[in-house]
Amino acid sequence: MRFKDLSQLKRPEPLKITLGSLPQHILMAKYAKEKAFKISELVGAIFEVSFEWYGFTLAHKDRPELIADIGLPQNDLNLQDYTNLGSEKIADFQESLPEDLIINGWIHSHGALNYKHFSHTDKENHLTVLDFVAARTRKPLAKKEIAVQDLVLLQKDRFEEKDMEKGSVCLITDAPITEAKIMETVYGSFCYSIVIGDAGWHEQEIHYRERGILSGHTKVSSKAATIEFVDTGKTLSQIDISELSDEVKKKIRPHTDPPPELIERM
Ligand SMILES: [Zn+2]
Repeated sequence: MRFKDLSQLKRPEPLKITLGSLPQHILMAKYAKEKAFKISELVGAIFEVSFEWYGFTLAHKDRPELIADIGLPQNDLNLQDYTNLGSEKIADFQESLPEDLIINGWIHSHGALNYKHFSHTDKENHLTVLDFVAARTRKPLAKKEIAVQDLVLLQKDRFEEKDMEKGSVCLITDAPITEAKIMETVYGSFCYSIVIGDAGWHEQEIHYRERGILSGHTKVSSKAATIEFVDTGKTLSQIDISELSDEVKKKIRPHTDPPPELIERM
């Protein structure tokens, strides 16, 4: 049995049912903020020069929208590698984390510079991080109707091969039907990007990706976001600071002779 195409069933607007939403502003534990600025301070104290560094923002698996901590990977001496944040590097760092922690973004410092914006290179890094983080921050956002032009409805065991030549999509059902709606899940992911300066300023963005599971329709967007600092009860203790100091000594090694295009690359 075969029915006519969807034109008779067409709706003006595809049906959409909202299931969830992505964060519209950034939530960050006060502890994580304190730690980020402490890293900058330690870099200045240890190397006697203000220097850029980068890290990852970390969240607990069950609360991916809250930055609970800052993770410091081995920062490279080589500026080119540093600026081009590779997915391999991110994967290595994710693997070093405890089971319940995920990366939900990245943070870097512009040191003593008053350059309070994301650079062109930073923008490329956002996308690399988003790509990596997407699977972990993914959640269903909506069920959305796929408007199929020329949908053919067939009944199991009751159609011929030539029926298959017609239509762009065919739906084979075990009982005769005259109408069908195909709804796909639209998944959404996000990652945070924060840049800070020694003077205490910070700028941040949220990057989004939405993808329809069946249509493959993908939308990438971003926006400047406000940041809300949350008191999680955790504070940076003297022991934490001393451990962080050792970590900074080990993982951050500044260029003593930065190339002139440094500012441009940052
Ligand atoms: Zn930068």
